Amino acid sequence: MSQTVRGRFAPSPSGRMHLGNLFSALLAWLSVRSAGGIMVLRIEDLDPDRCREEYAVQLADDLRWLGLDWDEGYQAGGPHAPYRQSQRTASYAAAFHTLQERGLIYPCFCTRAERLAASAPHLGQGQGAYGGKCRSLTPRQREELSACRHPSWRLQVPDQTAAFQDGLQGAYAENLLRGCGDFILRRSDGVYAYQLAVVCDDADMEITQVVRGRDLLSSTPRQLYLYQLLGRKAPQFCHVPLLLSEDGRRLSKRDGDLDMGALRERCTPQALLGRLAYLAGLLPLPEPVSAAELIPLFSWEQVRKEDVTLSDTSDAF
Ligand code: GLU
Repeated sequence: MSQTVRGRFAPSPSGRMHLGNLFSALLAWLSVRSAGGIMVLRIEDLDPDRCREEYAVQLADDLRWLGLDWDEGYQAGGPHAPYRQSQRTASYAAAFHTLQERGLIYPCFCTRAERLAASAPHLGQGQGAYGGKCRSLTPRQREELSACRHPSWRLQVPDQTAAFQDGLQGAYAENLLRGCGDFILRRSDGVYAYQLAVVCDDADMEITQVVRGRDLLSSTPRQLYLYQLLGRKAPQFCHVPLLLSEDGRRLSKRDGDLDMGALRERCTPQALLGRLAYLAGLLPLPEPVSAAELIPLFSWEQVRKEDVTLSDTSDAF
């Protein structure tokens, strides 16, 4: 008997959604709906400094405007509530303590500047592999340093390659030690890190399929290692192309002309969906279409793998 597909969209409410977020959301939604699965909307509001409730309300409204609905999650409830990371700390704390009891976590007293200086610049998303400076501190050194600074907490990783088959990008592998190094599970201000939270949430919510932007491909080996340590079942991953501006930058919430506020003024939902589906490789022409009409047209074989550079962005959308 085949398992019901459970997918999710997991936006961070740190600004208005932009075209790149929509592109990932549309593909995640189509993948679930074309398989008759369950769609979950989880709000990734881990970072209290960057996230705001009004953005969460707004993004739910923007998704509905596009016709991208969800069965469980924010504003809908469901068996795995709560669906906001800020309310799921108990799950992250339990996982953290499990790993801590096994001696796999250590405090790191490096400042941000030290971390950046010590890391190879080209690795990961500009964050580089951590050289492990604080791994070998003695208990006494830890005690002394704790007196002047709150540490962040790192997971010790082995010199081991994590490999997986991405549903869209194909085979991907990274050596944990050289690719990312010991990574942070909890920040010095006590906030649990995305890498830990996303694994706990996807496992707790029984997510079977993660569709998200290609910028998170390099996070996946770390997440798979956490699944392994925590004895949880990992989902399948599909990392979709990024939308890039003409100068090759990834679209971000700073590209105001392509955020949902501006797009909703200029476009109908059908026009926007038609363009996105065309860019994804699902339509031969950028013609208006509804979300529901796209469901039978969806297949992963059709979806392009390479990032999309938008030329003359404001005209096209
Ligand atoms: N919250 C992340 C973002 O908005 C997505 C994380 C994920 O899909 O794993 O970029």
